[in-house]
Amino acid sequence: MFESAAEMSFFRQFTNKWLHSSARYFLFTALLMHFGEIFVCLLLGYFPLVWQNMVSCLLYIFFLWLEKRQRVMAVALAEFEVVLFALAATLLTGLDSGFYFYFICLLVMSSYLSDAAPGCPIGAIQAPTVGILTALVCLRRYLPLQIPGFPPPGEPALFIMFGMNMAICVFTTTMSVYLASQTLRRRNQELENANQNLEYIAGHDPLTGLQNRLNFYDQLEDLCRTADEDGSTFCVAMADIDNFKQFNDQYGHGHGDLVLISVADCIRTCVRETDSVCRWGGEEIVITFFNASSDTAREVLQSIRRELHVLTAQGRPPFFREVTLTFGLAQHGLGQSAQELMSEADRLLYKGKQEGKNCIME
Ligand code: GH3
Ligand code: MG
Ligand code: MG
Repeated sequence: MFESAAEMSFFRQFTNKWLHSSARYFLFTALLMHFGEIFVCLLLGYFPLVWQNMVSCLLYIFFLWLEKRQRVMAVALAEFEVVLFALAATLLTGLDSGFYFYFICLLVMSSYLSDAAPGCPIGAIQAPTVGILTALVCLRRYLPLQIPGFPPPGEPALFIMFGMNMAICVFTTTMSVYLASQTLRRRNQELENANQNLEYIAGHDPLTGLQNRLNFYDQLEDLCRTADEDGSTFCVAMADIDNFKQFNDQYGHGHGDLVLISVADCIRTCVRETDSVCRWGGEEIVITFFNASSDTAREVLQSIRRELHVLTAQGRPPFFREVTLTFGLAQHGLGQSAQELMSEADRLLYKGKQEGKNCIME
């Protein structure tokens, strides 16, 4: 359908803009169509439709003005205009001119107008549209489709009007289906983004941006299973900030929060890319060292302690004094469950606290 990427991007840009404000474009296109019809009817010498189209043009100029203030009202009135115009034009020219095609256009357009003007009583307009269209088709032979004093146009003019209306119908139908599909795609994308957002929120701690316990625990259970199956080794370290309550009491909870964020950042930058970091609880952080012995894990923990010392020893905000961590480091043993492993790390941490803090206990 498209010749080149440049054309494609123009078309995308055009439809994106349309979707951005489809109500306005619907009104604008309708105005252009009525404007074009004025010239066609002038050329055909059929003046009743020239006047009718002129009235419609004025109405659409008003709808475009109204759209900026009351979008739903403007779209609803424009939809009524389509019904009334199609009905009046059919009464003037008869069924052979094809003006009743506009009812079909309107039905298809509703698919994206519901998105363009949420809350617009589209159902209330669709019901009479379907009714009038059905009545016209079923009762075409029996209806007195003529306004006295306004004879229908002759054969060649009718043929041209039929072609024009057919072209308008095909164009608007194709465009509407395309726009409706784009609307659907956009909505799907929005839903997908919202889902990803929710998934992120559910699995992460809002303060530090680290994984939360829920997300982490599932991973740890998987890791224990895999390690039991393939014999790989991994370690878990539980870190706890030393005397943090005192820090909070002295400098306030707000500063405590900033310290927590900075400690989390420090740990994140020191661990290897394959390791994972999780906020276990209050000021406890758990690090998982994938495919690592306790020697490797200890080296990484030492680098965290060094980095934290450099960061905090000078007492610059938010670290008004040196902040240290105590670690409980446990290596996964064959058959050990996630819960057992965490209890072991917790036990070692407790031991580290008892033996003077600011250390790595194994
Ligand atoms: P210890 O060296 O034995 O760990 O002493 P501690 O004072 O750190 O004791 P503990 O770990 O039991 O205290 C945890 C404190 O951490 C209590 C609370 O004030 C603080 N804390 C927990 N979560 C947060 C948080 O999200 N923000 C701030 N600012 N403080 C927190
Ligand atoms: Mg603590
Ligand atoms: Mg604690």
